[in-house]
Amino acid sequence: MEGQKLTTSLSSLKRKDTLARLQAEEFDLLIIGGGITGAGIALDAANRGMRTALVEMQDFAAGTSSRSSKMIHGGLRYLKKFEVKLVSQVGRERAIVYENGPHVTTPEWMILPIYEGAEFGKFLTSVGLRVYDSLAGVKKTERRKMLSRDETLRLEPKFKQEGLLGGGMFVEYRSDDARLTIEVMKEAAAQGATVINYTKVTNFIYKDDKAAGVETVDQLNGQTSRIYAKKIINAAGPWVDTLREKDHSLGGKHLLLTKGIHLVFDQSVLPLKQSVYFDTPDGRMILMIPRNGKMYVGTTDTAYNGDYAHPRITDEDIDYILQAIQFIFPEWPLSASDIESSWAGLRPLIHQTDKGTSEISRKDEVWESPSGLLTIAGGKLTGYRKMAETIVDLVAEKFEQEEHKRFSPCETKQLPISGGHVGGSKNFNVFLKIKTAEGVKLGLSAERAQMLVRKYGSNIDQVYNYLQANEEKAKKYGLPADIYAQVLYAVTDEAACTPIDFFARRTGALLFDIDWVREWKSPVIEVMNDMLSWTSEQKEQFTADLEKRLHEATVPMQEAVPAAE
Ligand code: FAD
Repeated sequence: MEGQKLTTSLSSLKRKDTLARLQAEEFDLLIIGGGITGAGIALDAANRGMRTALVEMQDFAAGTSSRSSKMIHGGLRYLKKFEVKLVSQVGRERAIVYENGPHVTTPEWMILPIYEGAEFGKFLTSVGLRVYDSLAGVKKTERRKMLSRDETLRLEPKFKQEGLLGGGMFVEYRSDDARLTIEVMKEAAAQGATVINYTKVTNFIYKDDKAAGVETVDQLNGQTSRIYAKKIINAAGPWVDTLREKDHSLGGKHLLLTKGIHLVFDQSVLPLKQSVYFDTPDGRMILMIPRNGKMYVGTTDTAYNGDYAHPRITDEDIDYILQAIQFIFPEWPLSASDIESSWAGLRPLIHQTDKGTSEISRKDEVWESPSGLLTIAGGKLTGYRKMAETIVDLVAEKFEQEEHKRFSPCETKQLPISGGHVGGSKNFNVFLKIKTAEGVKLGLSAERAQMLVRKYGSNIDQVYNYLQANEEKAKKYGLPADIYAQVLYAVTDEAACTPIDFFARRTGALLFDIDWVREWKSPVIEVMNDMLSWTSEQKEQFTADLEKRLHEATVPMQEAVPAAE
């Protein structure tokens, strides 16, 4: 067996050291892309003893992995397309994702209302959900329940009554995609992977026509570097073809990007009691999910060829979602002015010439180029661990064949992610209670303490340590001690480099608590500025970027932007 594990750091204060380490040695494996796919691969590879590196050109999860519907799901909609194997695989993976990080994923009962004339009537929905339970290996306590019309209306009295036949109830798992990605990345670092954000791969380096390394540019200071590795995986999500083009291997199958958007409302204007999943008149499915006093609703599925890094909502997207809400809840006529926040994401799908955008399979595939570059494309948040297992198995096989080098088998099925070291899902509620009580002793409200424990899981002790040690400093910045502790934790332990990293992906507030961002943005910027010693230009730029994101959260894009990399 190869490899010696050393915990590495995910601190933005140590970026220089991390970059030096990346340049100092030849790695076994280099991963390009710090979304959930890359993070999962880094964790698996590092855990097996491979010397592993990962580079991300934006912030971790800033691509699709912070822009999904945030469900770790069994893929009920795939059953509609008879993708039985996919349903079975992602359904089983869902249980593993939950078990290894119960702080970041929560079971959620959903209602599926059934109407006259729908593609699947009551009987077929009942059979479908039962098949789903069995394919996805659903726990007994979470198996589907069928509801009469009255029972459905009792649960959700505002459903459109005309044509309502009844409903089905089933459990899906709600997650936080960005935090899931960051927790997997932190665990990868804890297992020895050297990972860095804001470092863009600009070119490949070849030795005897084989990809042997990459040239990178630091997106924060322009510094160029060279990183060498025996094997390289392209896990760049929507950008995988851009990298294949650089590798001169863009042939055969390629990506098709489709955009999906979500709108966020306050629960006071959309007072749903629980999650709803329903068919639209055009045969698509829409999710409505409650989260901390807000509701988010999505999604759309439209072909896309604009700026990959900044997909935005348009007026048509908003109309589509508002009409869908109006269709199922006619008594709640919402308008664009009710939207509190929003986000748009790009699905990196594998092109199939004979299919419409909603019909294309969400399966993942691995492609190998003549230079040996491995590309992993397609897939789902839910299946990230299995995708990683598949491609790391392939890399391990190559090491064995080419160098007679052996690595440990995959162990991520039973490997908690960072923050998930709470003794499994069955112990999480007890853990939550104990740690919430500790937070209350530190002066937090029970609600705030619980929110923090849910966010940071077993890393809450570190956040509490920062809180206790910095009450005076926090006052100096005009920040409550717990928010100051969150900023400290984000910069020191979670590689946050900019205010958007903190407000969008470390806390989720830009999506689900936008007023909190408006209230605290100035002191948070001051703390980050002092910790990270920004230049005045950087401070100005990062502040302007945050303002732009706040604006774009509610204001749709008016004109088409030109296509860009
Ligand atoms: P990304 O997250 O995009 O990561 C790729 C990364 O590579 C990016 O961060 C990018 O910056 C980086 N990169 C690119 N080029 C370079 C370079 N040259 N150098 C360095 N880094 C580079 N899945 C589910 O399981 N459940 C859901 O509910 C769900 N809902 C979805 C809803 C929508 C609207 C969308 C769009 C997707 C949804 N998905 C869902 C799918 C899921 O979000 C994606 O499959 C997953 O996030 C893709 O992750 P990734 O790591 O492959 O890509």
